[in-house]
Amino acid sequence: MDKLTALQTYFGHSAFRPGQEPIIDALTAGRDVLAVMPTGAGKSACYQIPAVLLGGVTLVISPLISLMQDQVAALREESIPAACLHSGQDEETYRALVQQALGGAFRILYAAPERLETESFTALCQRLDVRLVAVDEAHCVSQWGQDFRPSYLKIAAFLARLPRRPAVGAFTATATEQVRQDIIRLLGLRDPLCLTTGFDRPNLYFAVARPRDKERYIEEYVLDHPDKSGIVYCATRKSVESLCRQLQASGIRATRYHAGLEAEERARNQEDFVYDRRRVMVATNAFGMGIDKSNVSFVLHYNMPKNLENYYQEAGRAGRDGAKAECILLFSLGDIQTARYFIKNSRENDELTPEEAEAAEARDLERLERMVGYCKTTRCLRGYLLAYFGETHTGKCGNCGNCCGDFVETDITTEAQKILSGLARIEKRWPGGLGVVALVQMLRGSRDQNTLRRGLDELPTYGIMKDTAPARMRLYLDALEEQGYILPAGGEYPVLRLGAKAGGVLFRGEKVTMTERRPAPGREEQAGRRASRRKTAARAAAAYAAGDGTLFDRLRALRAELAQQHHVPAYLIFSNATLTEMAEKRPRTAGDFMRISGVGSAKASRYGPAFLREIAAYLAEEPEK
Ligand code: ADP
Ligand code: ZN
Repeated sequence: MDKLTALQTYFGHSAFRPGQEPIIDALTAGRDVLAVMPTGAGKSACYQIPAVLLGGVTLVISPLISLMQDQVAALREESIPAACLHSGQDEETYRALVQQALGGAFRILYAAPERLETESFTALCQRLDVRLVAVDEAHCVSQWGQDFRPSYLKIAAFLARLPRRPAVGAFTATATEQVRQDIIRLLGLRDPLCLTTGFDRPNLYFAVARPRDKERYIEEYVLDHPDKSGIVYCATRKSVESLCRQLQASGIRATRYHAGLEAEERARNQEDFVYDRRRVMVATNAFGMGIDKSNVSFVLHYNMPKNLENYYQEAGRAGRDGAKAECILLFSLGDIQTARYFIKNSRENDELTPEEAEAAEARDLERLERMVGYCKTTRCLRGYLLAYFGETHTGKCGNCGNCCGDFVETDITTEAQKILSGLARIEKRWPGGLGVVALVQMLRGSRDQNTLRRGLDELPTYGIMKDTAPARMRLYLDALEEQGYILPAGGEYPVLRLGAKAGGVLFRGEKVTMTERRPAPGREEQAGRRASRRKTAARAAAAYAAGDGTLFDRLRALRAELAQQHHVPAYLIFSNATLTEMAEKRPRTAGDFMRISGVGSAKASRYGPAFLREIAAYLAEEPEK
């Protein structure tokens, strides 16, 4: 069998995605690979297809039990024999699986890295014909990465003890040059093919919003998307609790997930979400690693994460089936403080020396700056993200909040002159500089203790912007910083500085503009829209419940029924993208059915007849056009 036939037969996809082909070629030819691919790009197929082509056993090392179980279930759906060995299994189950493995029952074997340290497991692997080892989330081997796992350091020694060294494929979604070098060195890759595929996820729409009331924004968004499933990420457990309660109170089928819940409840809630019994998951970032639910249509962030790596990974859980999906980050200035707090208090990694810890913290704060930059920029968000991950982009994607946004250009020359001359006065009097609060208080003519004690009220610029609201001042300052008139304020006690360009505004009458969102509609108009939105949501929900929907709805209902019967999550049967294509192309024969993307031969024979029957029934009922 060749690789394309394998892709079509087992996974039902008609063509390879970028990067998959060279990786599969290298691994099947016995060459090591380091692949950096974003979440959802299709890493699994890169080692699962070689596994099928190579024969013998492919060992997959992966950090999360839930992920492995999910993958094993998915492989069994494709009729590829697979199993997973982990510490959560009882002695008897484990031994039975080992016996089966020795009998050649499995083509793919998943194991947690901790397994590699146990004698029984290494003994097993020495007796198996291991032809390929795939290391998932390979950045875990590096201390520079986000989630260092010491047990990953044992992989190299484990490989060395195998009777014959197999090809090794290392896969990760995030890797800076440094992490990449670490992966190669610490896993002992030999002359690997290094491949970084595009990080772009064209089907994802990115946006940043600054709503006055975040809870209400989320509630309305969810009501606005009545038949969609999504995740809402919050920075704290407390917000998870209150937001989840609020959504439930509005009749939304939401559930929650955070590390403070009992393991049992976490597992139950996760399952409810994955099996579409609950459509919205409200969670901290403890949720999601290893969740391979492909029909997630939106990922909302109630708070800004602490870096873009985390953000892109979490947002990337949307739209894995290739269908259109939205990633919206709700930003408020308070989020910066929260993120700083987490960074300062998250260094429980006692393996680091104090110097290393300090350097790590400095790196984290730098990453945070770039994250804040994402929230503030008025340029293309996709362009910003891709630039961060080292890719070039036209900077005009047409599918992000900023490209599609309703922006107006405001002339802020007068305001800029006032702010910059105020800052110049401060710099003259306090050569060490002062923070943003001092500047704003001075310009607004505040009578607060600190301002008066410092004598800021004696400056000629005192009170020259007393009619400007603090929030508006922030917008001006952001705009001036983004355009280089003010230098970015970093560090714990950020001090503002004039940038090199400031002179042009102060002395040569240079014009300054600011791009800003068109003002939001007035309160009444908003209230009116809200009411009509609720009505639409109620109507859609009723129509949905009555099942009088489109062909897509009927196919989805059938999928839910089959999921119950076969005890698998609905998305493992067919993804939403596959159902959409089915609803459009309306296949009538088994041959037509096979041509739908996402339909492999195992699934075609298992589920094809039921879907074809449903489509035929629908066509028979449909009135003549
Ligand atoms: P990753 O591990 O990189 O996050 P997955 O391996 O889980 O991503 O794949 C994400 C989705 O992409 C899955 O639903 C998978 O079926 C789909 N997929 C993988 N390869 C292809 C392909 N060549 N064509 C279409 N869909 C694909
Ligand atoms: Zn854009």
